[in-house]
Amino acid sequence: MKAVLVSPPRPDVRIGDIPEPRLFDRGIYIRILWTEICETDREIVNGVLPIASTSPGKDEMILGHEAIGVVERASKGLEDLVGRYVILVSRRGCGRCLNCLAGRADYCETGGFVEAGIKELDGFMAEYVVDDPRYIVEVPRELLDVAVLAQPLSDLEKSIESVLITQRRMIWSCEDGTYRCRKAIVIGTGPIGMLVSMLLKSYGFRVTIVNRRDLYPHEKNVLSKIGVKFYNSSNGYEELYKETGPFDVVFDTTAKPSVIKSVLRFMNYNSILALFGFARAP
Ligand SMILES: [Zn+2]
Ligand SMILES: [Zn+2]
Repeated sequence: MKAVLVSPPRPDVRIGDIPEPRLFDRGIYIRILWTEICETDREIVNGVLPIASTSPGKDEMILGHEAIGVVERASKGLEDLVGRYVILVSRRGCGRCLNCLAGRADYCETGGFVEAGIKELDGFMAEYVVDDPRYIVEVPRELLDVAVLAQPLSDLEKSIESVLITQRRMIWSCEDGTYRCRKAIVIGTGPIGMLVSMLLKSYGFRVTIVNRRDLYPHEKNVLSKIGVKFYNSSNGYEELYKETGPFDVVFDTTAKPSVIKSVLRFMNYNSILALFGFARAP
């Protein structure tokens, strides 16, 4: 079968022919339908993601950690899963720390976790993947065209969850128990900025998304559909501040220290800054 192969830490990417995976006992055989390419993939291909590594003893790895597929075959006892559309979970626990044992490999304490297509485990940019059903999430048919976004969305959900857990130290919801009196600013109109704006909106926040340039037509289109306001921050945040008052949540997706610094003085008492981007060491 064909697969997209990388050899971290060396910068490289190629399409290779590799043997099809074999169905193991208690496993399922998945045909991959779509995979996404995100900044992490680009960093691996360019050899600049420090965590990227093949499994010990191997010199190549299948790329891809955001995928959706359909179960084509299943081992005995799992036949019910055949025909189901599934998302594959990328991070797998170390099997030793309590967080991993409780199913929260995102909080692994040993660093011994593996991550498909990133760290010591083959990813999903291949025609077929055989996996353990513990690591799949079924996708309702009506969400098929957007479900490939579930992996990045889960990271953003976790960020908002962390914001809300932190703010629970005080009374931070509005008088009617919602967040509609709270103003959230999302910096950056890339895919992550768009996704988190939708999410904040669904939590009830008043959301403004900003960028230092005008919107591209496709961005304009998405924002008008979800009802999120845009502000061009090329001249700073003064004008927006005059209009909306101080910001309660600042959600940065740019990882640019100068951008973050310029917004800090407009933040409200008890507000919270969420950093989602990764700044690379100079
Ligand atoms: Zn990603
Ligand atoms: Zn762990």
